[in-house]
Amino acid sequence: MTAIATLGSHCALQVLKGAKDEGLKTILVCEKNREKLYRRFSFIDTMILVDSFLEILDPKCTRILEKNNAVLIPHGTLIAQMNTKQIESITTPVFGNKWILKWESDRHLKEKLMHRAGLDVPESLRTPDEIKKLTIAKRHGAAGGKGYFLTTSKNDYIKKRNHLIRAGLIKGDRDLYLQEYVMGVLAYLQYFYSPLNETLEFFGADKRHESDIEGLARIPAQQQFPDYISSFNVIGNSPMVLRESLLSEVYDMGERFVEASKKLVKPGMNGPFCIEGTYDQNGKFWAFEFSARIVAGTNIYMDGSPYSTLLYDVPMSMGRRMACEVKLAIKQKKLDKITT
Ligand code: ATP
Repeated sequence: MTAIATLGSHCALQVLKGAKDEGLKTILVCEKNREKLYRRFSFIDTMILVDSFLEILDPKCTRILEKNNAVLIPHGTLIAQMNTKQIESITTPVFGNKWILKWESDRHLKEKLMHRAGLDVPESLRTPDEIKKLTIAKRHGAAGGKGYFLTTSKNDYIKKRNHLIRAGLIKGDRDLYLQEYVMGVLAYLQYFYSPLNETLEFFGADKRHESDIEGLARIPAQQQFPDYISSFNVIGNSPMVLRESLLSEVYDMGERFVEASKKLVKPGMNGPFCIEGTYDQNGKFWAFEFSARIVAGTNIYMDGSPYSTLLYDVPMSMGRRMACEVKLAIKQKKLDKITT
């Protein structure tokens, strides 16, 4: 029997519940300090207890995964805690495309893929000298918005950058990526692409609640503090339904992204992914980011989303959708088409 395995964090509960709903075995690689939490859930069949998630590379761990024919579901914690080389060296079959995760972690590669997909991407700045209008400084990798800040001039940038260096969050300019700030309604578009039936499914949209930029927006400008360095640390997500007239463009963007990925990083963008950006005052979508794997925003739709309801007659979470794909691939003897 095939098992679905994942790391105990991010969206592990959704992933393993979905796998269990589809009758698959479930394995959680769990840090010892979180064991108590995950023992509460009966749909987790096996726990591999570790001191650190890096142990997923150790033979002790890989042997158990191999014995259970496990497919590993990668998520944000895997990206945040392992470097590209470590991720690429995972021997357990990884759902989706592990090679594209490098493109997610490197902001310059990321930009290249988004441009190739014909997405409108806010302009990036090569050096702090180019800061002329409202600019966001972001760290590389999936830092979750922590330590990101807004700035409008080089002097202000240097002050804030030095603050982050003192706080131990960055070493220098090279750790920051500068991008034009786009004002509007933020939307995180969740997709699933199946290489087995070559179709793209739009699964849902969510909003992120980020601290403390969200709190700052509730304070009138006169009461705000000019030297304050805000952060975009993600605290949680809430559901969002888009105007129906925007949906056609949403599908087009997803399809272009899938096509571009097939060309730039084989076998392409298989499985779940997310295009993240801002709708401006003209309803134009500016994509500033993508995630090439399941995003935590899908956790709000554990029971299905308004859009998955249109596609499936059973409550379909993203976790369950992946389990369905694994089952179909096994039936068609094409597991190698959906894993890397
Ligand atoms: P994650 O990996 O969790 O998706 P990240 O660390 O890769 O996050 P981004 O998603 O690029 O970072 O940015 C974090 C937040 O910063 C966004 O959710 C958004 O609120 C804000 N943001 C980023 N880029 C822009 C931009 N160009 N214009 C407006 N807001 C932006």
